[in-house]
Amino acid sequence: MTQPILLIADLHLDPSRPAVTRTLQHFLEREAPGAAALYILGDLFEAWVGDDAVRGDEPEIAALRSAAEAAPLYIMPGNRDFLLGERFAELTGAQLLPDPSVAEIHGDPALLMHGDSLCTDDEEYMAFRATVRDPAWQAQFLALSVEERLAQARQARSTSAERGQALDEATMDVTGAAVDAAVAEHGARWLIHGHTHCPGVHELDTPFGPGQRYVLGDWFEQGSVLRCLPEEWRLEALPLEAE
Ligand code: MN
Repeated sequence: MTQPILLIADLHLDPSRPAVTRTLQHFLEREAPGAAALYILGDLFEAWVGDDAVRGDEPEIAALRSAAEAAPLYIMPGNRDFLLGERFAELTGAQLLPDPSVAEIHGDPALLMHGDSLCTDDEEYMAFRATVRDPAWQAQFLALSVEERLAQARQARSTSAERGQALDEATMDVTGAAVDAAVAEHGARWLIHGHTHCPGVHELDTPFGPGQRYVLGDWFEQGSVLRCLPEEWRLEALPLEAE
């Protein structure tokens, strides 16, 4: 039997939600040994203020390391954990993927993205994104103490939560224009992303023929995984373990 390629995103791992970390640990233990590859497409962590803020023996780091020993593990930074870096990659054995990346899913090239760069109607967010992706801004941020960085990340999250309540859902979703431009630029008929927390499968009309856009769900009320077999790509819900 062909081994599945598994894609997840938006776990938002945080000490306040240990059930999600546990569900991920068990998901990786169960699935990694039989998988052809595992992809985590951004926002694995609720916040990541720099690789120097972890010790390296945290349970989620150990779980990722075991998974990477069993199957190739690819991790794309999202808008919450865009500072994932080389030390994280060494600690876990994961390969960091740039956003966007094209991956062969059983021979079909699929465009992989976190998804925030597709939300082009949210101009204020796009400006913020450009700022924090600037190497000079990042160097300055990483020079602060871990405590100062955590405080700034908390501040940024509460600002973003307030904005989220004020904005309508359409403004925070991906735009058709950005999706069309991305698939055209990368020659892909399939696009897989997360970020919007609205799992679903959408038909795509690309210059290369009909395709699909797969949106991975978050891991808040339940988990979400795209299980790709050669004959079928299936978006599955995953129950979270009890607290
Ligand atoms: Mn996100």
